[in-house]
Amino acid sequence: MSEHTMTIGGARAGTARRFDVVNPATGSVFATAPAAAPDDVEAAVSAAHQAFASWKRDEGARRKAMHAAADAVDAAGPELAALLTAEQGKPLTDAATEVQRSALWLRYHADLELPVEVVRDDATGYAEVHRRPLGVVAAITPWNFPLTLAMWKIAPALRAGNTVVVKPSPFTPLATLALGEVLRPVLPPGVLNVIAGPDPLGSLLTGHRLVRKISFTGSTETGKRVAAAAAPDLKRVTLELGGNDPAIVLPDVEIGTIAQRLFASAFMNNGQVCLAVKRVYAHASICDELVDALAAIARSVKVDDGTVEGAVLGPINNRPQLDRVTSLVDDAIVRGARVAAGGRAIDRPGYFYRPTILTDVSDGVAIVDDEQFGPALPVIRYDDVEDAVARANNSRFGLTASVWSADVAEAARIAADLDAGQVSLNVHGFGVWPDLPFGGHKWSGIGVENGRWGLHAYTETQVITGPVRP
Ligand code: NAD
Repeated sequence: MSEHTMTIGGARAGTARRFDVVNPATGSVFATAPAAAPDDVEAAVSAAHQAFASWKRDEGARRKAMHAAADAVDAAGPELAALLTAEQGKPLTDAATEVQRSALWLRYHADLELPVEVVRDDATGYAEVHRRPLGVVAAITPWNFPLTLAMWKIAPALRAGNTVVVKPSPFTPLATLALGEVLRPVLPPGVLNVIAGPDPLGSLLTGHRLVRKISFTGSTETGKRVAAAAAPDLKRVTLELGGNDPAIVLPDVEIGTIAQRLFASAFMNNGQVCLAVKRVYAHASICDELVDALAAIARSVKVDDGTVEGAVLGPINNRPQLDRVTSLVDDAIVRGARVAAGGRAIDRPGYFYRPTILTDVSDGVAIVDDEQFGPALPVIRYDDVEDAVARANNSRFGLTASVWSADVAEAARIAADLDAGQVSLNVHGFGVWPDLPFGGHKWSGIGVENGRWGLHAYTETQVITGPVRP
């Protein structure tokens, strides 16, 4: 694979130092990425700051450039997808979908209206509300969906007239660096800058005086550090953080109908999805049947290198995450959990773990209380649905949740009592669309991304007012 470079001020930016990138399907280093120095951060933020002056002025040019960027992303689809699979581990078909969704986000936001709202126009005077861009946006992303999560930030930020410096996770820097290369000839210099490097690069960016907004997706722990870094300068923040997303399954479900969907919602991207089902509360009358059905699916799923035809799940992305999932499952077993499927790593090179279904486990055990972010799902028995709701809500997190029942009206009633930014009915994490706000309650984040709500988060309001219409 070719050596990818950073994009600063519309040009390639090499570095003296590079760092290793591991293919999680082999556990071996397969590429290197540039390691930005403090001077590179300075150069990237300055380039973005300079580009802001003209980029913010011409809405029509922005829309046109964003459509051209979407076309360029589509045209580079195979190259970007191959990089994603190599560095992230996901099957190639999923990687291709991720690239397509990145282009979709650009097109949707290019066409999204940001109207001036006239609030008063009468004898008492005139007032209208504008949405002005903020300036330089720092976009910091995790390793599970490197491209789409970057685009959740880049697309609305650019549409609103901001300029951007993106910093991907050091586990998955390559597809984002390649995105910068693909867009170099398409966007004006400095509008989109891509830098990479091991931590603490992110904190150099969040601390920079010219950055006016930080849009961060990652763990709750890091999100709190980002919020603290933003505070002295009152930088605006959007934080998309962790989740411990519950699915509540009522006694009236038809297991044959829901099991496959429930499994997919927990194990997509190998469970490394902020909004994946992380714990299932199943009514005692159907719990064993559900566990058997989920376990049968878990045993039948093809887990392999993402480049292998037919692979449904790939490896876990990195060694620390594999170790975390392993220790959470081992701990649950020591505490009496029964392994209905999986329960251990796969004996081959790379970070492969068997899709795991645990039962006879309950709240108070780490795999139920914490975010596992991997291919292991605890199924918890309950007798009373109000108790299940209380246990589901008894968490610092509040990202997504779901309720599963033949009675959709009853499911919707229960949904209203769940502390989560999105509750799906008979499906989980259903609403991930460019026009729908996505964000978490409590420790799962601050603010939302996507739709006009997400776009507004890349703006400041400005009122223009006077005795008569200008
Ligand atoms: P992480 O918090 O370890 O890292 C996220 C990013 O922050 C990386 O780019 C990292 O290099 C950077 N970073 C680290 N320290 C920093 C600092 N002090 N200042 C600024 N940046 C810093 O998260 P991760 O392990 O890459 O991702 C997994 C987590 O992301 C999970 O908790 C998951 O739930 C969460 N996530 C949330 C959403 C959402 O939309 N809510 C989506 C995807 C993932």
